[in-house]
Amino acid sequence: MTRTRKTDRDWDALFHAISREDDVAAYRASLNLIADGTAQPDPFRVLLATIISLRTRDEVTLPASERLFQVADTPRLVADMPEERIAELIYPAGFYRTKAGTIRSIARIIRDEHDCVVPATRETLTALPGVGPKTANLVLGLGFGIPAICVDTHVHRVANRMGWVQTGTPEKTEGALERVLPRRYWIPVNPWLVAFGRIICTPGRPFCGRCPVYASCDRVGVTRSR
Ligand code: SF4
Repeated sequence: MTRTRKTDRDWDALFHAISREDDVAAYRASLNLIADGTAQPDPFRVLLATIISLRTRDEVTLPASERLFQVADTPRLVADMPEERIAELIYPAGFYRTKAGTIRSIARIIRDEHDCVVPATRETLTALPGVGPKTANLVLGLGFGIPAICVDTHVHRVANRMGWVQTGTPEKTEGALERVLPRRYWIPVNPWLVAFGRIICTPGRPFCGRCPVYASCDRVGVTRSR
């Protein structure tokens, strides 16, 4: 099998092949609905939807986010809502009660300390309750269009299997990907690899037999596949 060295990788061809998978394209479209719900991507909606999405399936996240946004989609409106009402709207998202408290706290901080504008730096975003580096990078990317790599378990696994990086944790993968991945892919790498990781390069036994990037994959650590 032909292998490519990191420096030889044709990133355009790789991402073209990955994004052409129907299921990957469908998933990416559904994730982008969060950002594209308004004509101009709204960082506040992206931030809240990302909080709601944690440990929650996509089929639940999108309707739950929409229910909340139909009632309130600005920091001022959400900050004034009773926590119980937020919980009611985002139910059955995982940990919906805790998330309702987090969402209201975030809205109040943005209203009171940031003049109702979502801050556009990683440092300020991660200072908000419930916002880690992963969420902050997703908001920077999808909400503001600022290049930032959001690495979750799927991005970490796929990037390592393909041999793009050799890292032990998602945190280290973020820095390693920044060094090898062209900047234009820093934002789409998350929705594409998350979808690809759920559908083709799955945990356990990946579907290498029908993988569109098999020829350029190092299959690091893959001992069994389908
Ligand atoms: S060839 Fe297998 S391990 Fe490599 S990306 Fe495709 S599914 Fe994943």
